[in-house]
Order: sequence, then C-alpha cells, then structure tokens
Amino acid sequence: MKKLSIIIPMYNEEESLPHLYKRLDKLGESIPNYELEFLFVNDGSKDSSLDIVKAYRKSDNRVCYLNLSRNYGKEVAMGAAFDYVTGDAVAIIDADLQDPPELIIDMLKYYEEGYDDVFAKRRSRDGETWLKKWTSKKFYKILQSVSKVPIQTDTGDFRLLSRRAIEALRAFPEKQRYTKGMFSLIGFKKKDIEFDRDPRVAGETKWNYFKLIDLAIEGITSFTTAPLRLSTIIGTITAFCAFVYMIYTVVKTIVTGVDVPGYSSLICVMLFIGGIQLIFLGIIGEYLGRIFTEVKRRPLYFIDEYSGTDNSKSPITNEITKNCDTKIERDFE
Ligand code: UDP
Ligand code: MG
Repeated sequence: MKKLSIIIPMYNEEESLPHLYKRLDKLGESIPNYELEFLFVNDGSKDSSLDIVKAYRKSDNRVCYLNLSRNYGKEVAMGAAFDYVTGDAVAIIDADLQDPPELIIDMLKYYEEGYDDVFAKRRSRDGETWLKKWTSKKFYKILQSVSKVPIQTDTGDFRLLSRRAIEALRAFPEKQRYTKGMFSLIGFKKKDIEFDRDPRVAGETKWNYFKLIDLAIEGITSFTTAPLRLSTIIGTITAFCAFVYMIYTVVKTIVTGVDVPGYSSLICVMLFIGGIQLIFLGIIGEYLGRIFTEVKRRPLYFIDEYSGTDNSKSPITNEITKNCDTKIERDFE
C-alpha cells in the first residue's frame, strides 16, 4: 500500500484546524487505497494550534507533527517538512482551507499516471483584494520574462509531489528560500489542475504587503541574476550618453567659449546619474546580502519536537547531518 503524506504548515491557525481536520478525515474515506500521514508543521504558533494537533494525534495515528523552535515563515516550515515527511506521494496544503483538500483526489489520479508534480492552478481568487491579484499577476510576468525555466503562474504551494520530486527539493541547500521557484527548477513531469481558491475559513492572513514585497525580491534574486545584467546594460547606455554629452560640451566650449549658465543641465545630469548608481548599488547589495546569508551556512531550522511515523529520523541526527558538510547519499528511487 502506497503512502500519501499531507504537509500542513501552520502559524496561529487554531480557528481553522477543526474545519481542516474534518475535511482531511473525510478525504481519507475517499482514498482508502492509500495509507495516510498528516504532517502538521507548527511554525512557532502563539495560540493553541499545537495543543489541538497533539490532541488529534492521541486518537488518530495518521496525525503527525513537527514543532519548530520558533516562527521561521512558511518557506522554511515547508523545507523542514520535506526532511521529515515519509510518504510516497506528498501533498502540501494551507491550514486555512483556501486550498480544498478534495482536489488531492484528482491530483492522485495524475500522480498514478506518472506525473511528479501535480499543481493546483487558481481559476479565481475570492477573498483577495484586486491589488493583491494585480500585483501577483505582474510579478509572475516579470519573473517569467527574465527567467529561462518555465514558471507556473497563478499557483501557490498547493500541489502533490512524488518522492523523487521531494528528494530533489531536499537537495536545495539555500537558506533564503523561494520554494515556488524551486518547484519550477526541479523540472520533472508537471501537470496543472484548475480550481477556485476559496477565502480563508477563519482567522486572518499572515501576509502583508511588506512580506509580499520581501518574497517578490526573494523570488527574483534567488531565481535569476537578470537584474544585474539589466544594470550593466542600462549602466552602459547611460555612460555612453554621458560620454557623448561630455564631448559635445567640450567641443562647444572650445568653439563658442566658456558658457557660464548651464546650472539646470548640470544638476539634471548629476541627479540622473547619481540616482541610477544608487539603484544599481541597491541591486548589487541584494545579491551581496544573499551571498552573505548563504556563506554563513547556518542551519535552516531547529526542531523542538517531532512526533510521527518514522522514529528512525530523530531530530538530533537530522540536525547533525544538516550541520556537517558531508553529502548525504540520497537514493533517487
Ligand atoms: N504560515 C506559516 N508560517 C508563517 C505564516 C504562515 O506556516 O509565518 C502558514 C499559514 O498557517 C497557512 C499558510 O502558511 O497555513 C498560508 O498562510 P496565509 O493563509 O496567511 O497566506 P495566504 O493564503 O494569505 O497567502
Ligand atoms: Mg491563506
């Protein structure tokens, strides 16, 4: 019997959890030919989310949990889950029921046909502001135009991955993670399923515009060095124009003599070139910052507690293997 794992990253989701658990339980009835594992990743919740999950585990051994030592953000929470998840097929789902669990049944059909990454594509996004929709659309468009790998638009992290896709994701060592980009980078056979994204069942979104801008910059800088290339191109063009203008000024001075007025043109050129330089310094700084965090080689996360099916993978050994620089042999099936 094959095993299906469902990863649920959660951060202060006590209100959503009972609804979610009910739906997951129902889902289990529709797929009796799979052994199930619900891996809840508690990302430093300050409410009773973890206690609720612990209570579920007492009566239901399909429920497993991973308690991170603090709030790391959803990207890291998923990264931790990839290390602990045991299923042959692995689904990732939000705790707030914005992703309907029932869709996993359809995803499994494609998985059985041999697809490695069956992702849910949003047809509509109820409960999200037009600004969020618009910015997200533009962001994907920009990202696609600068990247060589195809990027899936209108998708989140809601998807079903095969074991070898999970192993491929685990091979990404970066500390600043942009998981959506990684899904594209690993390749393999992909299939999209359209669905309507529901509003959250309870609670509030943990995202704000600062976090989204952060993730957008993260996405671009982790995925592509195109901004650096763009800086070089724009910088070269600006320098060329400045050079032409300089020659023009020199020649004009020689021919027509010293020309004292010219304050506005001078200040314009100075401000323009100064501005461009600052922007490009910022772009270089973004990449430098990434290099800085990566070279520190800090562990990605710490586990406070793990309770699940696979007891051989204790948090201790996992952290040790994560910290030392040995390449772990991973069998790709
Ligand atoms: N989440 C998390 N850590 C965080 C923020 C969010 O694990 O620091 C989880 C959250 O509990 C939810 C999922 O990530 O299951 C998506 O979060 P949210 O619904 O707030 O994002 P949105 O759906 O608005 O993009
Ligand atoms: Mg949500």
